[in-house]
Amino acid sequence: MQGRVAAIVGPRQFEVKEYEVPMPEAGALVLTVRRANVCGSDIHQYHYDSPALREAALGHEFVGEVLALGDGVTHDNAGQPVAVGDRVVAVYYVTCRRCAACLRGDFGMCVNSLREWSKNPDVAPHFFGGFGTHYYVNQDQYFFTVPDVLDDQIVAGANCGLAQMLFALDRTRLAAGSIIVVQGAGGLGLYAVAVAKERGAEVVVIDGVPERLALAERFGADHVIDMTEHTTTEERVARVLELTGGRGADVVLEVTGVSAAFPESIALARTGGEVVSVGNLTVGEGFEIALSPGVITRKNLRVQGVLRYDPWYLHRALEFLVRTRERFPFEALTKQAHSFDDLADAIRDGESRSVARASIVF
Ligand SMILES: [Zn+2]
Ligand SMILES: [Zn+2]
Repeated sequence: MQGRVAAIVGPRQFEVKEYEVPMPEAGALVLTVRRANVCGSDIHQYHYDSPALREAALGHEFVGEVLALGDGVTHDNAGQPVAVGDRVVAVYYVTCRRCAACLRGDFGMCVNSLREWSKNPDVAPHFFGGFGTHYYVNQDQYFFTVPDVLDDQIVAGANCGLAQMLFALDRTRLAAGSIIVVQGAGGLGLYAVAVAKERGAEVVVIDGVPERLALAERFGADHVIDMTEHTTTEERVARVLELTGGRGADVVLEVTGVSAAFPESIALARTGGEVVSVGNLTVGEGFEIALSPGVITRKNLRVQGVLRYDPWYLHRALEFLVRTRERFPFEALTKQAHSFDDLADAIRDGESRSVARASIVF
């Protein structure tokens, strides 16, 4: 059987390559992909901004169906039986359990996380990306069966944005009654609103796109701050102080990818509050900011960065969706689907950075 997978072949260039679909080795699985989303990181990769993934397959947010199980694969990582035909989601990176990060239990930071994905798809077993007819789940990747009540449409993004937001907010002291400011109402920001609301927090969302702010409100944001009305950091800080009885936010979550949002996070947080930096990923020239570190000291802030998530958070993401699928409009996060033959259109849609993710249905 032949399968196809999209691979990066240069800046803003991809090719759909065809290979024989391999049989899984012991401990591995081969999936047929059912649905995949175009995430912001896919667009960065497509633009050649991810040095480790320049000759790699594209796509990491997806849901698939088991085509074949390698020897010894009888259960998923939650201990649920798995059989051919079951729908599954997989963590998109590897946890080798043999490196310094894995040794200290920091599985999301495994130094071999991109070991499989970073391979050129010409190398067997070829199917390292979600934008393909098939996907090969390596024995070092966590995977979970998908509960029947979850549609492909709302589950395809679980292994990226939702798992990461559950993980990021667990790293904070956010509790019922806390006030959180979410900077940026893209996919991550909207998932964060859902997670924070379920935990009983009061949520303030900052963005400059009316469509995103409207969606944030549908997800339960208590207040939105429109950057086209509150155009400066000073104005936005003043608004947050007004909403918090002059204190500032308990937790500020940055999911914008804009460097200038970081000093604003610091300004929005209350004394003794927390800042979580997730959206800013690019390092180097053009991404520097001016900041007096004394502000962090004087406010007694806890500042932390969060990259990826512990792999079992994908299971929590599934549980979260089962619990809250009626409460939050998750289906609004992805829009009308493209076919795999129209991948170029799906990518162009992703580049437009409109509120909902483009998706590909196989
Ligand atoms: Zn993603
Ligand atoms: Zn490791």
